[in-house]
Amino acid sequence: MIDAVASGVRPAVRAMQPYEWEISSDALAAELGLPPSEILRFDTNTSPYPPAVPSDLLATALGAINEYPDATYAPLVRAITAYTGLAAESIVVGAGADELLDMLVKVFLEPGDTAVSTSPTYTMYGVATATMGGRLVAVRDRADFGLDPDALVAAAREAKLVWLCHPNNPTGHARPVEEIAALASAVPCPVVVDEAYYEFHGTTAATLIAGRPNVVVVRTLSKAFALAGARVGYALAAPEMVGWLNRVRPPNSVGSLSIALAAAALQDAAGMRQRVATILAHREELAASLRDLGLHVFPSAANFVLVRVPEARAVAQRLLRQGIVVRDVSSRPGVEGCLRFTARTPEHNARLRAALAAALR
Ligand code: PMP
Repeated sequence: MIDAVASGVRPAVRAMQPYEWEISSDALAAELGLPPSEILRFDTNTSPYPPAVPSDLLATALGAINEYPDATYAPLVRAITAYTGLAAESIVVGAGADELLDMLVKVFLEPGDTAVSTSPTYTMYGVATATMGGRLVAVRDRADFGLDPDALVAAAREAKLVWLCHPNNPTGHARPVEEIAALASAVPCPVVVDEAYYEFHGTTAATLIAGRPNVVVVRTLSKAFALAGARVGYALAAPEMVGWLNRVRPPNSVGSLSIALAAAALQDAAGMRQRVATILAHREELAASLRDLGLHVFPSAANFVLVRVPEARAVAQRLLRQGIVVRDVSSRPGVEGCLRFTARTPEHNARLRAALAAALR
């Protein structure tokens, strides 16, 4: 019998490397013989504080769960408008920021096309680009993690998409908005500005959209709004761009419960800002306590810190044996020998520090 599956797999999919997570809490708990609740995750840059959910919210959403959500996600779009000040024509909703990255490659990349990113950065840009058979050209940031605008513009001469992360994951470095503006004016293609960590820093490229139809800002409710499990993200762009993205957008990928949770979270922006301020204070305490261990901690504009750790890979493995999962980026160009830690509660951060002190010995 002919091979009815593998022989039909698109060459791009055959060649691509999928996204890699650290080990799951369930799998690690099973390995260590612990309950999953004992595992502490410092690798996903989520919030340690679940949002307050109004008690009638889920009951109302569940009452209509037999029906599809409104494919325009109208209640959520209204909440995004209130939060961002941008009109519905400038908003696209997706199942997490990752689904918006996917819509962008579907609209703009053909096999063999070039996309440009900085390096090191969020690895999903490479995954999304590769899914379409695109070629990712990664331009190294300068040693201080700042952009190299000349190299980016040169690399993007023939590009169909530029990926920028602001603040950048995994370095925590924020991009000056004027630099993003200059880049968007100098390249011949859309510039995606991934602002997954926007709320932790507060500067945005969304102000550029009015004058630059090629700028797309992508955001998520997974980080500052503490809704990673709900899977909600959105893009902000000029109406023409929004129209193209909506063509390829799955009509109902965000469920009714997630829409209700996301709209409520956006309406409580004041609560979010309070939790963000708390997390930023904890991030500074964590950074100071790691410096006390003699480690080099890079400045951060997000809810995580990048830290240079001797024998980083071995240390990450030793932390796993203590039930602590960190993001090992030590083999990535530009952040060799580094680990990335999410700032969590003071108690969790203290456990990380103690485990790290033991693992360093
Ligand atoms: N962009 C960046 C820079 C991220 O770090 C992440 C999450 N790790 C995402 C996008 C994906 O976010 P979401 O949960 O909304 O898909």
